Amino acid sequence: MTDDTIQINLKAIRKQAGLSLSATATLTGVSKAMLGQIERGESSPTIATLWKLSKGFKLPLSALITEPPVAGHHFKESITVQTLFAFDAALGSETFIVGLAAGLSHESAAHRKGVIEDIFAIDGDLEIYFDGKWRPLSQGNSLRIAADQPHGYRNLGPFPVHIHNTIHYPS
Ligand code: MN
Repeated sequence: MTDDTIQINLKAIRKQAGLSLSATATLTGVSKAMLGQIERGESSPTIATLWKLSKGFKLPLSALITEPPVAGHHFKESITVQTLFAFDAALGSETFIVGLAAGLSHESAAHRKGVIEDIFAIDGDLEIYFDGKWRPLSQGNSLRIAADQPHGYRNLGPFPVHIHNTIHYPS
């Protein structure tokens, strides 16, 4: 995706919903100042901010970060997110390849109620936080977790690790 994808998507989603910046701030918990900065391309949002927008708008993550042709996006907190399958309403799911830099620990706030994540460790070992503790997930193994609670992804190794991450949004 190009660097202005999020900027364009956010503006389009907000306009389509007929929401002012203030109303969007109330709906999503992202400040009006930050929303304005994102829409003007002055600030690139963190994943935590994108999830707040996703939750507030009741839209999947891919609605914010994807444009065809699908490509990766590099976030400033050393995570890459490549959309493999954009959100499909009939299936209620979207799939990403998420890259975690060496030493990276990323914690995510709860997604909306009922959301489930399938995580497959492609090329290295990592740890996943859910139900209150970190658990190992070694290369070639998978986990299905309830993601409507605080959860996290941690790569304590010396090399980047990629996960296959499918997010299910029950209707
Ligand atoms: Mn998550």
